[in-house]
Amino acid sequence: MKVIITGGAGFIGSALVRHLVRDRAWHIANVDKLTYAANLESLKSVSSAPNHRFFPADICDAAAMDAIFADIEPDAVIHLAAETHVDRSINGSAEFIKTNILGTHVLLEAARRYCSNLNDGARGRFRFLHVSTDEVFGSLAPGAFFTESTAYDPRSPYSASKAASDHLASAWYATYGLPTITTNCSNNYGPHQFPEKLIPLVILNALEGKPLPVYGDGRQVRDWLHVDDHVTALTRIVEHGRVGQTYNIGGRAPMENIAVVEHICAALDALRPSRRPRRDLIVHVEDRPGHDRRYAIDPAKIESELGWRTEHSFATGIADTVRWYLENEDWWRPLRDGVYSGSRLGLLTPAAPILAQRAGNAA
Ligand code: NAD
Repeated sequence: MKVIITGGAGFIGSALVRHLVRDRAWHIANVDKLTYAANLESLKSVSSAPNHRFFPADICDAAAMDAIFADIEPDAVIHLAAETHVDRSINGSAEFIKTNILGTHVLLEAARRYCSNLNDGARGRFRFLHVSTDEVFGSLAPGAFFTESTAYDPRSPYSASKAASDHLASAWYATYGLPTITTNCSNNYGPHQFPEKLIPLVILNALEGKPLPVYGDGRQVRDWLHVDDHVTALTRIVEHGRVGQTYNIGGRAPMENIAVVEHICAALDALRPSRRPRRDLIVHVEDRPGHDRRYAIDPAKIESELGWRTEHSFATGIADTVRWYLENEDWWRPLRDGVYSGSRLGLLTPAAPILAQRAGNAA
C-alpha cells in the first residue's frame, strides 16, 4: 500500500507511521506542517527507512497537496492533521477553523482531482479515511453511550471544527462518490503525547512535585484508549472498512478524570517512590468553559464488522505510559523547557463577565 498520512509527526499520526512503516512495510508519505504539537523525534526510528518520506507541508496549500498526490499516487489517505487541544481552541479558534475545516476541504478536493484521473479499478480501491473524535457528539447522560447514529452536538470550538470536517467527508462521498470513511475515536493516551494533554501533563507535573490541576470537581467521564489500539483500528478500517460509513472507536474504559489522575499517581509512586504520595499534589482548579460531562463509546460496530479488539487494558497501558515518560526524558524535556511548560490554558479572558452574566440571565 502507498498511503498519504497527514499529521504524521503528531501523537497518533507518528504511532500510525511507525507501525505501518516498520510492521507492515507500507510506503508512507508523511505530510505535516510541523506546528508546536509536532515532534520529529517521534519519527526517529523510521526517519531513514526507505518506505518513509516526510513532506513538510500545510494541508491548506492546494498546490502542495496536488503535487504530493501526483508524486505518490496513493492507494489511500489517512487524514489526521488537525489542531487538537480543546483549551487552545477556547483561546484562539481561528487556526482550528483554518486547518480542521478549510484544510480538510483542500485535502478532499485534492483527493477528488486525483481520483478523477484514476482508472476504474484504482478508483474503486482508493480510500480516504478521515480521523475524527467522539467530542463531536457532545455530552452524554449517565449510563448512555455514543453509537454511529448519535446526533452531532459539538460544544467547543475544537469539536465544532471537527464536526464540520466530518460533514465535509460524508458530503464528498454522497455528492462526488469520493470513497470516504470517518472514524470517531475516544480519548487516546500513550507514549509521545504532547504534554499539554491530561495524562502526560499529570505524569510530568507529578514527577516534578508540581500541583496536579483537576478541572472542576474532576467527575467528568472520558473513555480512554491506548494509542496503539487506535492504530490497529485505523489500519483495519483502511483495509476492510466500508466506504461511506462511520466507525466509533473506543476502549470500553470510561473513567472519571479524578480517577485517572489517582491512577497515574499510584503508578508513579510504585515505579519511583517519593516521600509523600503524589495524590497529595491534586488541586481542583476552575473548570473548563463548556466542559462536556461524559463521553463513552459503544464500539460494537467495529468489533462485530471488523473483528477489532483492544490489546491494552487501562491499568497496564497507563503503567507502561508512565514508565515510557520516566525513561524518555530526552523526548519531553525540550518540550517542557521550551514549547509548553504546563501553564493553564483555555480560561475565558475579558469576555468572561459578559458570558457569565448571559448564563445567569438564561437561568
Ligand atoms: P496532535 O496535535 O498530536 O498532532 C497533530 C499533527 O497535525 C501535528 O503534527 C501538527 O503539526 C499537524 N498539523 C496541524 N496543522 C496542520 C496543517 N495545517 N497541515 C499539516 N499538518 C498539520 O494530534 P493527535 O492527538 O495526534 O490527533 C490526531 C488526529 O486524531 C486529529 O485529527 C484529532 O482530532 C484526532 N483524534 C485525537 C484524539 C486524541 O485523544 N488525541 C482522539 C480522537 C481523535
